[in-house]
Formats: sequence, structure tokens, C-alpha cells
Amino acid sequence: MPPVGGIIYGGKTMSNLADSFHRRINYMRVSVTDRCDLRCIYCASTFFQNLNHEDILRYEEIYRVVQAAASLGVNKIRLTGGEPLIRPYLSRLVNMLASIPGIEEVTMTTNGILLAKYAAELKTAGLKRVNVSLDSLKADKFAYITGSDKLNNVLEGIKAANETGLVPVKINMVVLKNINDDEILDFARKTITDGWHVRFIEYMPFADSKMKKNDIVSVQEIMSIITKHLGELQPHHSIDGNGPAKYYKLPNTSGTLGFIGAITECFCAQCNRFRLTADGKLRPCLLDDDEIDIKGPLRRGATLKELTEIVQSAALLKQKQHNLQNGSMPAARSMRQIGG
Ligand code: SAM
Repeated sequence: MPPVGGIIYGGKTMSNLADSFHRRINYMRVSVTDRCDLRCIYCASTFFQNLNHEDILRYEEIYRVVQAAASLGVNKIRLTGGEPLIRPYLSRLVNMLASIPGIEEVTMTTNGILLAKYAAELKTAGLKRVNVSLDSLKADKFAYITGSDKLNNVLEGIKAANETGLVPVKINMVVLKNINDDEILDFARKTITDGWHVRFIEYMPFADSKMKKNDIVSVQEIMSIITKHLGELQPHHSIDGNGPAKYYKLPNTSGTLGFIGAITECFCAQCNRFRLTADGKLRPCLLDDDEIDIKGPLRRGATLKELTEIVQSAALLKQKQHNLQNGSMPAARSMRQIGG
């Protein structure tokens, strides 16, 4: 089904929602909670305070915002958090969002700890696929980075997601200097031995993070380590259309390697996304503190048309590009609060 609010252009249906720089916005990341069962050293803030229960959008409220966005042509939804799987009855939300006319796919980003438990019911509810965040394959280092001893649960979750058909499962590794950069080759080898789709992500220094700019390992450095030890990287068409990653394969493998260089290879010009935070703010850019409240209007009984206008105004707030490479970083909220 074409996007409800889409327009036909060159034989393709495009979103009607655009920002001031003529970028079409068709992708919304929805944070369902600010709570997380991990405390990753680069993500968790030391002074983090959980939202009050009543400040978090209810499923019916998320549904209405997505309905408004879909009426403008948004067709992709990714659930995130905090950790989305710790919110009770998440598959109910998946089912609600997947049934909205115009929504073509609902996907999720998770730390994978509860994935084995929920993979089957999420698939039945209409979830298309998952990205799993995993920064180490070694139990002690996993524990050091995340504060948890549940590496095996994550590996079980990845297996369950593959078996259930939440595919392609993409494994997201944030590479941190002198912490897990010695595992770049181990992750790359997983594309050969297990057919994994691994994406290496440059660490983004947030203001409240315990880690700093010097902890970035650039995608160029990561690629050269892989090329040196495992052979030439062959460019590969994206495994799911657009997005910030550039994809490659090692010779004779079924898995793929993706590289996301938010700092050294700014991809803002192609940005097609915005975010809905767990406390009901529309955030046009992950790395910019501008937000528009939609929870207030929702709770005061805004009509679908009014919500649609708020979504449109949020898109117009989108900046041309972030300024992280020059040291400007989001100060008001951590990744966990925004929804990564
Ligand atoms: N809990 C879910 C998960 O672990 O995937 C979803 C939320 S988490 C904030 C989303 C992603 O953001 C994870 O892959 C995490 O590694 C990444 N992330 C968090 N802080 C980051 C940072 N400062 N730089 C780069 N990636 C970051």
C-alpha cells in the first residue's frame, strides 16, 4: 500500500513530509521508554533520573502520533529506548502500529537481553526485523561495558531472532578506543563464520558521557584494520534500502559489514528521519536539542489534523546538519533519554 500522505514522483511514492532543506522525511524512531536494563559506559549518564510513569506516552498516544505522521507519508517506524523490550506488552504496540494504513514496516533496536523470550510474539504481532546492539563477544568485557553478565542472553536473542525470521538481524557494535577495538576482527569474522550482518558505529561524544572525543575510532581506521587482516572489502548494496551505513562484504561470505561514521562521514544530507521521545517530544535531529512537545496537545484532545500540523512544524525545525565534528554536542539529554 502506498503511503497514505505520499505523493507520486518519477513512478515512486514519496513522503509529503519535508524539512526546510527539501529532505523527505519518511522514517520515525519511537522511544517507548527511557529505562534500560544495561548501564553502558558510553551511554548511561551518571546523573540520569527516570521519567515518572505518567510522563511517558501511553500506547494509544504513540498510536495517534504515528497515525498523524503516516497521514503525511511516514512509512517506517523503529521502536527504541531506553530498552524497548522492558516495556510491558510491547507486542501490543507493534500490532497497533503495524495496522496503521501507510505504515510499511515496524522494526526495533534492542540490547537483545529479552529477545529470545519475545521474538516469536513480536514476529506474530508484525515486527519486521531487529537490530541488536552488542559491543563485545567476551563475557568479561561485555560486563565491563554494560554492567551486566548477560552476554549469553544476547547471543540467544540473536539466534532466536534469526530463527523466527526477524531478519536481516543487524548487529550494531559501537567501537571504543582501547576498550573493544581489539575485537573489530572478531566481529568481522562473524560475517564469515555465522553469516552475521555487523555494523561498526563511530562513538558519538555526548555532553554527559563518561567517554570523550579521543575515544572515537573512525570508520576509516576500522575498515583499514579489517582490510589488512581479512582481505579487500567488496562494496555491497544496502541490505535494506536507505540509511546511514555503507555496506561491504568479505570474499565468499553471506554476512555483510556496515560502517556508520556519524562523526567523520556526516550523512545529514540524506537524513530522512525524526524521533518521538518517550515523554512525547518530537525531535527532528538526534544531535540537536531542538524539540517540540506533542504530549501536551495530545492530552488536551488535539485532533488528528492538529497533530499532523505539529509533526509538520517539527520537520521544519530540522537543522541542515549536526555540528559534532566541531565539538558541538547535545547537552540537554542523553542517548537513553532521546531514544538512540
Ligand atoms: N537499548 C536499545 C539498544 O541497546 O539497542 C536501544 C537504545 S540504545 C540508546 C540505541 C543504540 O545507541 C545502541 O546501539 C547504542 O550502542 C547506541 N549508542 C548509545 N550511545 C551512543 C553513543 N554515544 N555513540 C554511538 N552510539 C551510541
